[in-house]
Amino acid sequence: MKPILPESLNAVIYNPADSDNMIVSGFLKIKGPLFFTYNNEDEIAGIAVSLKMSGYESKRVVILKKYPGRLFQKCPGSRNMICCNYRLINTRFNCMYDCSYCFLNSYLNSYGITQFIEFESLRNEITQNLTDDNMIYRVGTGEFTDSLLMDGITGISGFLMKIFSGRRNVLLELKTKSDEINHLLSIKYRTNTVLAWSLNTERNYLKYESGCASIKSRINAASKAASSGFYLAFHFDPIIVYPGALEEYLELVDFLFSIIDPSVILWISMGVLRYSQGFKDIVLDRYSGSDLFSGELFPGADGKYRYLKRDRILFYKKMVEKIRSYALKPFIYLCMESSDVWKSVFDLDISTSDELENIFSIHLKREFFSK
Ligand code: SF4
Repeated sequence: MKPILPESLNAVIYNPADSDNMIVSGFLKIKGPLFFTYNNEDEIAGIAVSLKMSGYESKRVVILKKYPGRLFQKCPGSRNMICCNYRLINTRFNCMYDCSYCFLNSYLNSYGITQFIEFESLRNEITQNLTDDNMIYRVGTGEFTDSLLMDGITGISGFLMKIFSGRRNVLLELKTKSDEINHLLSIKYRTNTVLAWSLNTERNYLKYESGCASIKSRINAASKAASSGFYLAFHFDPIIVYPGALEEYLELVDFLFSIIDPSVILWISMGVLRYSQGFKDIVLDRYSGSDLFSGELFPGADGKYRYLKRDRILFYKKMVEKIRSYALKPFIYLCMESSDVWKSVFDLDISTSDELENIFSIHLKREFFSK
């Protein structure tokens, strides 16, 4: 299935005082959507309510505004779980794709895709926060949205690539489920940009993320990016289990390495489906008849539901074994797992997120950036 095009937006809400802003002017050039203006932000809610009442779908409405909070932050992680201390840049809230497992579904009252429009202050924030020259920090934009969604219009990735370029202690990760990378291929500031794709089995793609680019298109886009000199990363996340799933995930790894040169992959993560209490009801209400939760999931130390620990460990170990049969250099890590799972899968004693961040950084320096 083709990804949803930004041109299929129904409405854009903006402040005319921002018309010269790079991102706002990019949206104003799109043909198709209706444009609504506000003069102060209190008016946005009223416009949104009237669009909602008129039947405009939330994911077809873009709200352009300045971000009132912190643009840059450390990933909050999950209680009692090991986090990789990823740094997040808040570029946008919400997504045009419609993955049924996406935690954004929990934000029931949010309407529209809120696109933030000003990022100049990031230059200082990055300098002030990423101070250790011996580290390699990882920073990404794909936490509350897809990094490359509407990126040809906003130009945000290109802007970030430029402000990150030349910084030797940081890598910018652009994480996506799209295949739209052509606009990035001519940007020369790419030495510390990592293009990353989330991958899933064909069955899970068709059931839970069919609005995104197909798995084959994502991997082909990754191959194209690698040929243009970008580093790559991949995320098997969320792993969703069903009868025969392990074999299909292992085949997916085979397929990935039949196309991608392993020497340009900096990291690969794995994480199983996880969700907080209440999320299941929201998803079943929205995607009626979904079998997303058909496996056995139980609450863990952070209160989130996951598959049984022994099953997760078995799954991860088989995946690591398969990945390692092709690629020794990428750093392989688990997303939001406990230290005992880390021990069982990798025979590594990691008890804090700082420890993981450190060994991650050391690995990257040793394998990729030793010169
Ligand atoms: S692409 Fe990512 S952010 Fe967008 S709906 Fe899917 S999981 Fe959520």
